[in-house]
Amino acid sequence: MRFNVERIRTDFPILNREVNGKSLVYLDNAATSQTPNQVIDVIVDYYRRLNANIHRGVHTLSQEATDAYEEARIKIQKHFNIAKSHEVILTSGTTHSINLVASGFSSYLSKDDEILVSAMEHHSNIVPWQMLCERTGAVLKVIPMNQNGELVMEDFHKLISERTKLVFCNHVSNALGTINPIEEIIKASHKVGAAVLVDGAQAAPHIKADLQALDVDFYTISAHKVCGPTGVGMLYGKEFWLKKLPPYQGGGEMIAEVTFDKTTYADLPHKFEAGTPNICGGIAFGAALDYMNSLGFDDIAVYEHELLEYATSELLKIEGLKIYGTAKNKTSVISFNIEHIHPYDIGTILDKLGIAVRTGHHCAQPIMDFYKIPGTVRASFSFYNTMEEVDVLVEGVKRAKNMLL
Ligand code: PMP
Repeated sequence: MRFNVERIRTDFPILNREVNGKSLVYLDNAATSQTPNQVIDVIVDYYRRLNANIHRGVHTLSQEATDAYEEARIKIQKHFNIAKSHEVILTSGTTHSINLVASGFSSYLSKDDEILVSAMEHHSNIVPWQMLCERTGAVLKVIPMNQNGELVMEDFHKLISERTKLVFCNHVSNALGTINPIEEIIKASHKVGAAVLVDGAQAAPHIKADLQALDVDFYTISAHKVCGPTGVGMLYGKEFWLKKLPPYQGGGEMIAEVTFDKTTYADLPHKFEAGTPNICGGIAFGAALDYMNSLGFDDIAVYEHELLEYATSELLKIEGLKIYGTAKNKTSVISFNIEHIHPYDIGTILDKLGIAVRTGHHCAQPIMDFYKIPGTVRASFSFYNTMEEVDVLVEGVKRAKNMLL
């Protein structure tokens, strides 16, 4: 076998856990991925050997911690083929990254401007833009989706115009797994002079995006979706935009000079990195990307696709089960419901069987409204899941159905 999943699983100590007396089957990877020893060791080593504040100390520990943190920035830069390391802003995650951009555009929009957002966004890629529209009077318009959970691109091309200033879309939908045609969206947006922010939170564990080739203006990810820790992430921004946008927060680290008359701001990336950052998290983020790259994104994609196909065909054998999100181009995410059963009840029974899935609206209520459902059960697979775990899930769902109907 090309992809040695049994060996890979030994990197993840948590996968040996029992939950409710059963072996854990972790299928909530779209919410947060698990952490391999290679990343846990970096976190432990940081606090055992390196812990110090960065960018400001002359002492050895501070310099070593600074070097490790800046090395992580370079790893992120290389991973996403970003032209300049100062175009990588380290944030607390996707939500922080998006809010930073939304806040920065406040002074550049007015009531004659339009913002386009896709119908399948996570709340973190909806609410900050609504708040921006409230501040500026700009109008939010929605790129619709179809029953398969794909964007209706003809409508997108009709909606975009000279009035469009910003376009927001996720690379991959967290609730449906749909891979969106972001290349087409970016090209058409640039033709009318609109900037594009792509939320890459759900793409990052599956797709190694080349941000220069995409020519995207902003791209955001969270480390905890790619085997890294929580509370750290990336905002990529083209140098042009990062220079143009004002700082998001004021404080230490982000200044050049402070007097009570006037403060000047630090150069990129520090202009957007006020305060002591998540130093350990940033270093571990770099280690997490190293780990994923050591497995290889092409091999990960092939294996996860096999898991997706097998799980889809086995689940569809269950009468009354409906999958939401049937796009041809999708990642290893299956959102489903069983007729007459609330998703929460299925999730609760699966948990009793040691199976971790997500239930609810997945922070994407407009998608649930579109399908007229309260939520779904979402099983999201990672490269460390096995075909046997798919079987355990399918048996669990059958059992839940028998108990609940
Ligand atoms: N966008 C998408 C598509 C997501 O899946 C998530 C996390 N569920 C977020 C944004 C928000 O990420 P975070 O909570 O790490 O800021």
